[in-house]
Amino acid sequence: MQGEAMEGVRGEVVEGLRYVHYQLGANTGKVLEVSSFLYALTELLIEKGIITEEELNERKIAVAERLIKKFRELGMGAVFQEKEQDKYGFDEVPIDCESRRQLCKAACCKLSFALSRQDIEEGTVKWDWGHPYMIAKEGDGYCVHLDKVTCKCRIWDNRPVPCRGFDCRNDKRIWLDFENKIINPKLPEVFARKEEGTEKCP
Ligand code: SF4
Ligand code: SF4
Repeated sequence: MQGEAMEGVRGEVVEGLRYVHYQLGANTGKVLEVSSFLYALTELLIEKGIITEEELNERKIAVAERLIKKFRELGMGAVFQEKEQDKYGFDEVPIDCESRRQLCKAACCKLSFALSRQDIEEGTVKWDWGHPYMIAKEGDGYCVHLDKVTCKCRIWDNRPVPCRGFDCRNDKRIWLDFENKIINPKLPEVFARKEEGTEKCP
């Protein structure tokens, strides 16, 4: 029975891969066509003295930055952490989360961030299939790795760099006064749940 189930899953994965490969092939053909057109056009414009190569390069950089920003806003394309860092050698922010979780309800575990190539290759941290490679979340906005009974991370030793580096000490969305453990009373609104009826940290 287990073997049959595995075969079923494998079949679905193979189907999915076939579709992805087909789309990749189709997209590559289209990109080639568009690139040829653009290269031909820019070559002609430069040859005829309508624009210079310097002007073109300058504009290319500005447009690329604009498009990347737009793509990110729309959740298009795969994103990775900008600066790839070894999470096991990362200098962690020293915060006594253990004594604070009951107050902050692990608010930081509702933040969105991209994973690193190290996270993806390791395969422990789950990513959002709809928005590769953002951290996977549940309907209530919490990270899928948060144990909502204890409010603790289930993959603490393997957690990504943003979790290790997040510094809530001066984050007024969370603490009005970090030293004296005074939580922002508006915290639930700031990190509002997306769906009702889901579990929550105690
Ligand atoms: S919000 Fe701050 S205190 Fe609370 S779990 Fe996150 S890092 Fe720890
Ligand atoms: S990986 Fe762990 S620490 Fe990081 S957001 Fe998820 S539950 Fe929180």
